[in-house]
Amino acid sequence: MIIDTHIHVWSYPALVNARDHIKSTKDLVSFRSRCPDLYDRTLTEEPIDNSDQLISDMDKFGIDRGFVQARPGSVTNDQVALSVERHPDRLFGLMRIGHDQEAAYEYMEDPTPVRESAADEIAHCIEDLGMIGLGEIFIRAMTAEVDPEKIARDLVSMMDAVNHYKVPVQFPTAWSQFPGGLFYGHPVWADEVAARYPEVPIILTKMGRSLITYFEPCMAVGMRNENVYFDVVGTNADHLRQALDLLGSERIMFGSDWSATWSCVREPAPLYTMRLKVLEDANCTSEERENILWRNAARLFKLHDLTK
Ligand SMILES: [Zn+2]
Repeated sequence: MIIDTHIHVWSYPALVNARDHIKSTKDLVSFRSRCPDLYDRTLTEEPIDNSDQLISDMDKFGIDRGFVQARPGSVTNDQVALSVERHPDRLFGLMRIGHDQEAAYEYMEDPTPVRESAADEIAHCIEDLGMIGLGEIFIRAMTAEVDPEKIARDLVSMMDAVNHYKVPVQFPTAWSQFPGGLFYGHPVWADEVAARYPEVPIILTKMGRSLITYFEPCMAVGMRNENVYFDVVGTNADHLRQALDLLGSERIMFGSDWSATWSCVREPAPLYTMRLKVLEDANCTSEERENILWRNAARLFKLHDLTK
C-alpha cells in the first residue's frame, strides 16, 4: 500500500499545455520567470478540476490513496472537496488557508482578517466537508512577524482550532516556485508552535528540500518535539537516511507534491518514480518502507479502516 500525503489538485486553462515548458525540476522552479504570461493567467482564470489526471497517474505508478489539497491561487477548499467526492475510494481532503496570497505577488501587510476567519474555515472543512487535516500553510499569509514567539502568537486562532480537532497540519520548508515568503521556509519558528501544541501532529513538508541550510533546523526541531513529522518531497537519499537514523521511521511520510505543474516533470524520471527512488537509494528496510509509505499516514490521520 502507498499513500501519497502531499498532492495539489485543480489547475487552470493556462497550464493545460504546461508539459511543453516543463520537463525537469529546474524548468519547474523557473516556470514563473520564464513564462510570466502563462503564470499570470493562473491568477485570474477559473480553476478546473484535474483529479481524473491525478487518478490516472496514481494508477500508473501504484499509488493507492492520496491526500489532496488546493494548489496556490483561487482554488477553494470546497472545490477540493468536490474532487474527493468524485473519487471517494481513493482521495482524502486537506484544507488550506491563505493560499490565494501565496500565488499572488504580494502578501497582505496586515493579515488580521485571515487570522480571524481561520477557526471558522477549519470547522467548515472538518465538519461540513469531511477533511482530515490542514495542508501546507504558508504562514506569511497569517503573520508578518519574524520572531518565533510573535509568530506563534499570530497563529493562535488557527492553532487553537487545529488543537480542538487534533488533526495534523503541514508547514512547508525551504523554497517554493511561488513569489515571496522564502524567509518562513526556515523552520526554526515551528519549534515554538510545536512546543505550544504538543498534541497536534506538525508535518514539516519537504524536510528542507535537500538543502543543508533548511535540513539541519528541520532535524533540530524534530529532535526537540515528538509531535513533529516530515514528508519526503524533494529530499535526497542522504538526508532521508540521516533523518531515519536520528528520528526513526515513524516520523516520516511519503509525498510527491503532484500538481498541474509537478506532474509534467519527466526528466530524469517521472515524478512518482523520482520520489520513490529516494527510498530505494536510502536503503530503507522493509519496516522503514512500510512506515513511510503508508503506516504513519494512516495512524496520524486516523484512517482506521486502512490499518485493519
Ligand atoms: Zn506542496
